[in-house]
Amino acid sequence: MDRIDPSFEIDGIGRVICKNHTKYLQFIDPDKDYFQDLYMEKKLTCLECGHYEIDNCYFSKSRIDTIEQQREKRKRYRCRTCGKKIDRMLSIIYKLFCKEFYDIEIPLICCECYEKIEAKEFKRYSKLKLDVFLLNIVACIYLLGLYFYFIVVLNLPLIVYLAILLPVSIALILLTLYIVYLSAKRIRYALKGLKYYKKYFQDQEKKKV
Ligand SMILES: [Zn+2]
Ligand SMILES: [Zn+2]
Repeated sequence: MDRIDPSFEIDGIGRVICKNHTKYLQFIDPDKDYFQDLYMEKKLTCLECGHYEIDNCYFSKSRIDTIEQQREKRKRYRCRTCGKKIDRMLSIIYKLFCKEFYDIEIPLICCECYEKIEAKEFKRYSKLKLDVFLLNIVACIYLLGLYFYFIVVLNLPLIVYLAILLPVSIALILLTLYIVYLSAKRIRYALKGLKYYKKYFQDQEKKKV
């Protein structure tokens, strides 16, 4: 049985398509409406390919399964600019293929970020995200402070403090810590993404202008 090497093209909206996928003709049919396009996007994976079925692709069946698992769990493959899951598995296959065949590094980027970068809105969008998460943290801490201010000012009987306000306070502190932690994590990703963007895409953008 002959081994099939994948061969790739990128369509107008940045989707990686394998020309040797057994459903290739469906993928490039130009007369698709919106819903057919969504349906096609679901099929745009090696799992739908006949070569995966009979296991004669350069990417073996077991390797594709492993890649899919790691993609689902966001273990090894995640968007370099926002940290989110990569929805289109062929983007990962394409990246691995370029590295193994041509020793070229292709940045792994989710479809959302790709669209933002193409529209030259990535930087503005990332900065907006940073502001929102920072505001989140500030608002949480402010509200917690306000809460403590009021329970001190109200000067209630000790029993109320111990029976009701102590557990509520602990819960609120934990909730605040959790939200701050999540926001800080998102901020870290956004900063890392911006750094990555500046390194790999900014110059390209300038060249295009
Ligand atoms: Zn394939
Ligand atoms: Zn992304």
